[in-house]
Amino acid sequence: MKATTVIFIGPQGSGKGTQIELLDKVLTEKDPLRRIVDIQTGRRFRAMTAKRETYAERKVSRTLDTGQLQPDFLTHLLWGQAMLEQLDPKSHLLVDGFPRTVAQAEVLEEALDFFERDNVHIINLDTPEDVVRARMKGRARDDDTDESIETRLKWYREDTLPVLDYYRVRPDTQVHDLDGTDTIEGVHSQILKALELND
Ligand code: AMP
Repeated sequence: MKATTVIFIGPQGSGKGTQIELLDKVLTEKDPLRRIVDIQTGRRFRAMTAKRETYAERKVSRTLDTGQLQPDFLTHLLWGQAMLEQLDPKSHLLVDGFPRTVAQAEVLEEALDFFERDNVHIINLDTPEDVVRARMKGRARDDDTDESIETRLKWYREDTLPVLDYYRVRPDTQVHDLDGTDTIEGVHSQILKALELND
C-alpha cells in the first residue's frame, strides 16, 4: 500500500471524527508497519481551552463557543506543529478540520509538497444542512448553541465548499463525493470503497 493522505471535508455533524477513527483502525490492520498521523484542528483548539494559562489559551476559550473561524496563523501553527513532530513521506496522513478556506488550502499545499505527499484523497461527506442541524442538537458539545451552529454552517457554505473545487482541479488528487446522510457503517463502507480498501 502507498502512503496516503486523506483530507476529510464536511459540515459540522457530518461525522468526520467518527469516520476518521474507523478508517484509522482499518489502516492499522491492513498496513501495520506504517505510522498513521491523525491531525484534527478542532480538537487542538479545544485542547487550548482546557488549559487557559496563556493569553492565547484564554482568548481562544472565550471565542471558540461562538463558532467563528479562529485566525489562520493559529490554525497553521497547530497543524504545522503536529506535522513537524510526527509526519514524514512514508506515513499515512488523516486530516480533519482544515483546510476550511481556499487560503488555508494554499498554505497546506506547501506542506504537502514539503512532506512529499503525492497521493491525496479528499473525502467529501456531503450532508444537507437540515440533517446536520438535527444531529447537532443531540450532540450537546459546549459550542453547539443555535447561534454557533448557524455561524459554522454559514462559513462552511461560503468559505469551505469552494475548497472542494480547488481540489477537483489539483493534479494527483481524487475528490470522492459521498452521501453523509447514510448510517455510520454505510459511510464507512463508502470510504473504504473510495480508497479501494474494501477487499
Ligand atoms: P471542529 O471541532 O472541527 O468543529 O472545530 C471547532 C472550532 O475550532 C471551529 O468552530 C473553529 O472555531 C475552530 N477551527 C477548527 N478548525 C479551524 C480552521 N481550519 N480554521 C479556523 N478555525 C478552526
